[in-house]
Amino acid sequence: MSNTKNEVDVTIIGGGPAGLAAALTLSRGGRTSVVLDAGSPRNAAARQMHGYPGFDGVAPSEFRAIARGQIDKYRMAQFVPQRALNVTGQKDQFRIATNGGTWHSRRVLIATGLIDELPPVPGLEEIWGDRAFICPYCHGWEFRNQPWGYWPHNSEELAFGFFLLEWTMNLTVFAPTGSEIPETLHKKFRERGIQIATEPVSIEKHEDGILVSSADQRFELAALAMRFPQRQTDLAAGLGLEMDGTFIRVDGLMETSIPGLFAAGDSTTQMQQALAAAAIGSRAGTAIHKSLAGV
Ligand SMILES: Cc1cc2nc3c(=O)[nH]c(=O)nc-3n(C[C@H](O)[C@H](O)[C@H](O)COP(=O)(O)OP(=O)(O)OC[C@H]3O[C@@H](n4cnc5c(N)ncnc54)[C@H](O)[C@@H]3O)c2cc1C
Repeated sequence: MSNTKNEVDVTIIGGGPAGLAAALTLSRGGRTSVVLDAGSPRNAAARQMHGYPGFDGVAPSEFRAIARGQIDKYRMAQFVPQRALNVTGQKDQFRIATNGGTWHSRRVLIATGLIDELPPVPGLEEIWGDRAFICPYCHGWEFRNQPWGYWPHNSEELAFGFFLLEWTMNLTVFAPTGSEIPETLHKKFRERGIQIATEPVSIEKHEDGILVSSADQRFELAALAMRFPQRQTDLAAGLGLEMDGTFIRVDGLMETSIPGLFAAGDSTTQMQQALAAAAIGSRAGTAIHKSLAGV
């Protein structure tokens, strides 16, 4: 267990599914950790989490509380509600400054998730995580066979609209401003009964759904599927790590370009679901443990 000098084997930055899974794995390996969490998970806006066997339909906050309670029983991990501000030092001698103190550890795990960059359209934030979402597996079932919109941020993402027909045949695609829809794609949309409109300029809730307005039309919809850019947290972006586009580059053992500094969860992958994040976190926990053990 840690001591008054705030020394642990591993500092885990981020207490979402990835960080929690790593903390559990390390605890069961008899290694000490601190889980620093700033309290702003990606799925904070969602009332229920779906697609995680055993936890389908459970509130994300409840999932975290259950996981923390289970990890607490081992008395190897501490949960500290602080924001990590920077990581300095090197393998075996990391120093993590937070808004409430400083931690020292031999390894660090970045499990800080990603930031979704929502387009600044009036009304979108109010429905985000409920009737507006990225992941149809997470939210689609509740609105299946009802009218949906699909709003990608660039023309490369337009064809993803065809996949959404798996959930509803009543689909309007909001084409991003400035994008060219090739005639072949236009024709395919028409053949599959998909309507095309210009980008939303405002969104309003109404009792049974949402009203999405584009420049010259208004659509009554049940849900709005979206694709838009994401970015790393300020902490992760400021570490000088090698990246693969938006994502932190890791090797097969989840170690980043800085020796001793590992990463897991959404910050490392396009496969952004709680179960996937937990699986990667568990893998990172094992790899960190082995690296501490020198095997
Ligand atoms: C609206 C919405 C709904 C979703 N619904 C589902 C669903 O139903 N099912 C599903 O499987 N997936 C869902 N997802 C995806 C899921 O939320 C993510 O895949 C998952 O949370 C990723 O886990 P993570 O541990 O990588 O990151 P997160 O869960 O985002 O956790 C990262 C944590 O790091 C903390 N943090 C960040 N920076 C710092 C710092 N500097 N210091 C300390 N702490 C920091 C944050 O506060 C946060 O708590 C949803 C996503 C969104 C956006």
